[in-house]
Amino acid sequence: MSSETIFTKIINREIPADIVYEDEQALAFRDINPQAPFHVLVIPKTAIATINDVTEENAHLVGHLYVVAAKLAKEHGFAEDGYRVVMNCNDHGGQTVYHLHLHVLAGKEMGWPPY
Ligand code: IMP
Repeated sequence: MSSETIFTKIINREIPADIVYEDEQALAFRDINPQAPFHVLVIPKTAIATINDVTEENAHLVGHLYVVAAKLAKEHGFAEDGYRVVMNCNDHGGQTVYHLHLHVLAGKEMGWPPY
């Protein structure tokens, strides 16, 4: 199965996105269908399909996504009030794009449980 998804096209600038952060390992852009006033996806530039594909070898990339999430939350003024970071896995987890991504949601009080 190809690991190429719409997110690869965003990384390669083949389709537009509202990019808010980029470094050598990661890219962050606004979700096209935001579920909160601030809703950004943070993705590794190396395609990893799901959490099930995280290994000791690529786990540093996942850690880096959280570093970027925290940086963005601080920069956009959400660190103190708080925010939510979500990673969905496969059908029952609600995953629709099979390129690992963190949702960073902020700007309103979140409910729990999340279903
Ligand atoms: P998932 O359901 O956890 O896989 O999240 C995928 C997210 O990608 C959804 O929140 C979509 O709204 C978002 N999405 C899909 N296509 C695009 C796009 O082209 N640009 C920005 N966000 C997208």
